[in-house]
Amino acid sequence: MQFADIIGHQETKEMLLKSVQQNHVAHAQLFLGQEGGANLALALAYATYLNCENRQPADSCGTCGSCTKMNKLVHPDFNFVMPVTTTKSVSKDALSNRFLQEWREFILASPYQGLNEWMQYIGAENKQGIISKEESRQLVKLVSLKAFEGAYKIVVIWLPELMHPSAANALLKLLEEPPAQTLFLLVSQAAEKLLATITSRTQMIRVRNFTEQEVMEYLQQKFNSGQTTAYQVAQLAEGNLNAAAKLTSEISSDYFSFFTEWMRHCYSHKFGEVIDMSDRFQALGRENQKNFLLYALNLFRKVMLFGVDGSLISFLPPAELDFVQKFSKLITEANAGQLAEELSQAHYHIERNANPKMVFVDSSIQMAGYLRKG
Ligand SMILES: [Zn+2]
Repeated sequence: MQFADIIGHQETKEMLLKSVQQNHVAHAQLFLGQEGGANLALALAYATYLNCENRQPADSCGTCGSCTKMNKLVHPDFNFVMPVTTTKSVSKDALSNRFLQEWREFILASPYQGLNEWMQYIGAENKQGIISKEESRQLVKLVSLKAFEGAYKIVVIWLPELMHPSAANALLKLLEEPPAQTLFLLVSQAAEKLLATITSRTQMIRVRNFTEQEVMEYLQQKFNSGQTTAYQVAQLAEGNLNAAAKLTSEISSDYFSFFTEWMRHCYSHKFGEVIDMSDRFQALGRENQKNFLLYALNLFRKVMLFGVDGSLISFLPPAELDFVQKFSKLITEANAGQLAEELSQAHYHIERNANPKMVFVDSSIQMAGYLRKG
């Protein structure tokens, strides 16, 4: 993984590059960010840069001996510790190093996947992953060896918040008396669950969520999504690329067209058309019904924001922007809250297994009233 493979996050990339170029590499760093964020990807790109034999100003070279191995995650000085559990193929002594092959495949497929996907990937069924007590011995052994090839021996610990207390204590000892030329890159989603004595010994790198525009760019690059679909998914993914990838395969219809058509019928009180639409709504299936209503709620928030100040909206595809502009003229202080509440109520009822046709028709009648009164 190179920095160029990660969309956005220029500020963090520059900070990491500078730390290497100015020789201020802290021996323990904590990449903190939410699931589906760039924290693991940035740690991988950083490690690749550190061990690159031909560093460029803005990235690793990508072609030297070290980069080639780093890109396949097979560099002998690049080590991983991650939560694991016993599985059918590893029925005892479940340690990170017994899952290395799976881990490489998993991360190379996408470094934005979460713990659930990892547990599924190794066939953990319903078991919880943990960085066990036994893992700590492994960790001590690992760092006692000299670096084979690279300038640094690097240990990435994924989700250190899942460390057994004994493993956490072993790590703490290593951080207190750091072995020479060894770097610990902790990739965490919950720093508050780590020992304060560990966090205080690390340099924290806060990794923000991806923006809607970055999510769109990712979907267009990785899944070849069209702009409307990418925008639709970005509205729902909340900056989480893992969620975005899943939504891309789940979402089966064009929410934007459906929503605009719905609002048009509500506004003009065409209830015959609303009834027809309720059949199509029913046919979406429950997950898609919920996704659609969340999407509608998000787009509606944009409409409200636009009414307050158009510059608050950073980006909208042209068709959506046109709709938002027109629709915002129908929104007043009085009906904005009612309409938003109606959409979230509809979502609430669908989540609790209410009859989708009834929810849809009922919401339509309410919203038609609010739109006219507006
Ligand atoms: Zn290189």
